[in-house]
Amino acid sequence: MIGCSFYRIDLLAENAYLRFANQIGIMAFAQTPLVFLLASKSNPISSLTGITYQKLNYLHRASGRACIFASWIHALLWTPEVWWAGHFKRWYIIWGLVAIFGFTGLWATSFRWIRRAAFEFFLVAHILLSVAFLVGALFHWQRMAYWIWPAVAIWAFDRLLRVVKTLRINFPWRRADGQCTLEMVGSDVIRLTARRRGLKWSAGQHFFLAAPGVAGSKHETHPFSAANVPSDEGDVEAVFLIRAHRGFTQRLRDAMTSDTDTSIPVFLEGPYGTAHSLEHFSTVLLVAGGTGVTFVLSHFLALLQSARSGRSPIRLLHLVWHVRHGSDVTWIAPLLNQAAKEHPDIDVRVEVFVTRTKVADEPWPGEVQTPGVETPPTVTSHGDHLSGRSSQTTLVDPAESRPLLETIPTPTTGLSRSAQEIVSFKPGRADLCTILRRDVARSEGQVNVTVCGPEALMSSARTAVREVNTPEAARRGQVEVEFFEETVGS
Ligand SMILES: Cc1cc2nc3c(=O)[nH]c(=O)nc-3n(C[C@H](O)[C@H](O)[C@H](O)COP(=O)(O)OP(=O)(O)OC[C@H]3O[C@@H](n4cnc5c(N)ncnc54)[C@H](O)[C@@H]3O)c2cc1C
Repeated sequence: MIGCSFYRIDLLAENAYLRFANQIGIMAFAQTPLVFLLASKSNPISSLTGITYQKLNYLHRASGRACIFASWIHALLWTPEVWWAGHFKRWYIIWGLVAIFGFTGLWATSFRWIRRAAFEFFLVAHILLSVAFLVGALFHWQRMAYWIWPAVAIWAFDRLLRVVKTLRINFPWRRADGQCTLEMVGSDVIRLTARRRGLKWSAGQHFFLAAPGVAGSKHETHPFSAANVPSDEGDVEAVFLIRAHRGFTQRLRDAMTSDTDTSIPVFLEGPYGTAHSLEHFSTVLLVAGGTGVTFVLSHFLALLQSARSGRSPIRLLHLVWHVRHGSDVTWIAPLLNQAAKEHPDIDVRVEVFVTRTKVADEPWPGEVQTPGVETPPTVTSHGDHLSGRSSQTTLVDPAESRPLLETIPTPTTGLSRSAQEIVSFKPGRADLCTILRRDVARSEGQVNVTVCGPEALMSSARTAVREVNTPEAARRGQVEVEFFEETVGS
């Protein structure tokens, strides 16, 4: 930007710095449509490149900062001139100040800690300050309006598309009217099931949910990944797992009158996010922590569908999920039961790592080795989950048939018998490096690792892929490992 601002400037000429100030101001104007495009949820860059709008948001912030920087250089270089000319009360200067302080306010209210602490404040401030910036910039220098109107059009189109998407899914001709079932499946997790006619989405995509009855404002919406994929034509059920925090999600939980509530209307808008298919991999290792399971579970179910219909060459499908308590499996039990009933002739494993057991109080792998997890034990389950009785899962050293670790009490999980055959419980955190090494050794073709969860888990998965997918291993003929990660933070 700075380089372009020197275009055709004779540095020795009188007032060359003012010419530079004007040109860098024009550069700031020229960034505006790009800044708005990169913030849009349905932008063509995502469609063309496959990069999700959440990841493009990084470029939105970068181009926004560049624009502010250029605007301030423009303003500071002109300040002495405007001062001597006594133009501070002229309208074009006042509008310029509205624009620059509006834009600076956008930056100042967007820090991560503000978004984490008060997302709704950030959102409202972003809308109001964007309007201030656009109006200010338009009237500051109307000859540059051809940069501002495209930005306005991009923003308006994005909002319009959101309204259309909401109406298309929810309203009268769908006969849905916000109907859904909310179930309390853990102390702070709600399972929301919404049945909508003809609803379509792909694995890994998310919807914005609005519950005007419990939201702070009528327009408040929050993103949640669908935990399943549509199976049939006609009425389709979308399943979401919602962890209650302090805002909208807590109000939703508080509004529930019983553990299963069908009285709160919830409207869906979407789907959003770029769908990336894992169909062409021979082995897929899906790694999740907590409610991050929604993202990977939809891939898990989509891959089973593809394998059943012969669209995918997948031979090994492995889900590794970290939960605080064994009973958290209840969240996804109906989906696993369905999957286990129809599962095709491929190797399907679900390993649930329970992090809050007496033997699980250890740091992430790499810091300390966890003996029972390092050497995979066989798992024997006793008890009948469906009958509602608690069961015990014992980890046994295969060589010596003696318990390696304390038993993990596995409370009622709602898993059917066929689902229990593919699900095993382990204490502590997974040694992802060892797990990946084994999956790669058994794989006949390309391997994919997809992870969604807390930053520590994603970093652990990245390290595992780096350690296994080395150039030396590739030279030895090891199959290629592809990595994909998804964040669900703000
Ligand atoms: C693409 C995507 C998919 C997600 N999928 C799931 C999921 O499947 N299950 C799940 O439990 N959570 C998911 N989340 C997170 C979920 O959106 C937030 O937990 C929820 O919006 C919190 O609302 P709150 O008002 O109760 O939050 P608060 O208590 O106000 O804040 C808790 C955290 O949520 C963030 N947050 C609040 N509002 C939003 C918002 N509108 N957009 C993004 N982040 C927000 C805050 O910055 C903060 O970090 C997903 C987030 C994204 C971006």
